[in-house]
Amino acid sequence: MAEFENPYAENDPFVEAHFDCLDCGGKLWEYAIQRQMVCEDCREVFPTQDVFDEQVAADS
Ligand SMILES: [Zn+2]
Repeated sequence: MAEFENPYAENDPFVEAHFDCLDCGGKLWEYAIQRQMVCEDCREVFPTQDVFDEQVAADS
């Protein structure tokens, strides 16, 4: 039986996300606990859901 490991349990709560900042195009980092993403360049914070919605809209 495979053990479930929560990757957020022991690591830094910031997880690199493969999304671009909606404002400046910088790299967004997911703050898993808050379900938010923070831009490493402009430090703007976005709700994760908003980022997903933007990316889906941009890809279609
Ligand atoms: Zn930014």
